[in-house]
Amino acid sequence: MRPPTVRFLGGVREIGGNKILVEDGPDRILFDFGPSFDPRREEYYFDFLQPRSTSPVKDLLEFDLIPWLDGLYSPEALGGMEERYTEPSVHAVFVSHAHADHAGYLRYIDPAIPVYTSAGTRKILESNRATNPSLNYGDHPWKTLSPGSAVRVGSIEVVPYPVDHSVPYATGFLVRTGAGSLAYTGDFRRHGPRAALTTRFLSAAAAERPAGLIIEGTRAGPDPRRSLSEEGVRKELDRLLAATPGLALVSCYPRDVDRIRTLHAAAQDAGRTLVVPAKAAFLLQSLQGDDELPVPRLGQDPYLRVYRRSKKRLFKWEQPLLDEAIDAEEVHRRGKELLLLLDLFQFAELNDLRPEPGTPFVRSMSEPFSEEDVNDHVLRNWLEHFDLRLHQMHASGHCSGPELAEVCREVNARAVFPVHTEHPEAFASGPGRFCPPTKGDRYRIETGEVER
Ligand SMILES: [Zn+2]
Repeated sequence: MRPPTVRFLGGVREIGGNKILVEDGPDRILFDFGPSFDPRREEYYFDFLQPRSTSPVKDLLEFDLIPWLDGLYSPEALGGMEERYTEPSVHAVFVSHAHADHAGYLRYIDPAIPVYTSAGTRKILESNRATNPSLNYGDHPWKTLSPGSAVRVGSIEVVPYPVDHSVPYATGFLVRTGAGSLAYTGDFRRHGPRAALTTRFLSAAAAERPAGLIIEGTRAGPDPRRSLSEEGVRKELDRLLAATPGLALVSCYPRDVDRIRTLHAAAQDAGRTLVVPAKAAFLLQSLQGDDELPVPRLGQDPYLRVYRRSKKRLFKWEQPLLDEAIDAEEVHRRGKELLLLLDLFQFAELNDLRPEPGTPFVRSMSEPFSEEDVNDHVLRNWLEHFDLRLHQMHASGHCSGPELAEVCREVNARAVFPVHTEHPEAFASGPGRFCPPTKGDRYRIETGEVER
């Protein structure tokens, strides 16, 4: 029988799209299953040219945009290639966090295969699904992970540990097989508000003396972009709000709950109300009740309101959120009392909001990596048209290059597999055998060598 192995079916030399298969004898489990962020998909599919809903796997396989695995896909997803369907032979999927590049292809997985996530990740995925009719994660037996409690799948044991990332409730994993353990970081950072969680995971990983460390390297290699800590974002925001006589505008990632909390706290201390899109309000509602991550409650918190966009039809989920909503006219009138969270895709609201010239617009998300970024081009045109001043303030969801090197030293695994990075070579000098994965190859867990 083949010794326990790990295969990387996505997330190889690309940021996002992790698909990691661990096999020990007949037991097969998968970690994360989402589409790549990488532009390769856009070489074949863009705008309205998309895989057909009747044959999505066939249409993605054609260009190697999804891996082939026996016993993984649902009969529906295999439309147009039904003859390749076999009974499930992947026994569980573990999802590290609620970002699309880790969870977005769950919809194609056989509904008999259980999906394990943290309770919070499940809530965020549910909230995504409720507010976005095009999102779908499939129907599976959903299993909840509890921090530190091992889950056994056949002979493989998986121990989940919460880690800090730019979406809350992210998980790192220790994976125990018959020939040693792996530590898989998922996406993680050490400078965020829950850095202590990441430290606890890394200590547990080091204590495990793992054969392999599977580490994400989003910010490995050259990255000129500035990243603050969450506290740093707060300080810069405080300064800006104090110096702003009228309305202030901001945008952030829709599921960056830490950032929404930072914006809310800064607004409150500046005597302003944070006005959020209905989707953000819905997410905050669905995350109520966690003492470790308190979020403001709509209708009770005087510093939180919902923005009413100009729309012909309201969805059922948004109606109850809009009772006390603020519209463009009110935002315009009460500008100096408000901080408005406005997503780029809702910029047409500016035509009604008519902010005063010189109004600050805070981009509280990553700077675009490339100068050809279409969104950035459009954003800048709007800012120029309305004479808005751009301020960049962001704390990344990922470790910096030096932090990644430190993590490799700390965990001190015998082999290091960099994933979720365009620069695996940045890990070459760390301790442990450097194993930049090749997509699809099998690596022996015990040694990190390719298994033929
Ligand atoms: Zn990711």
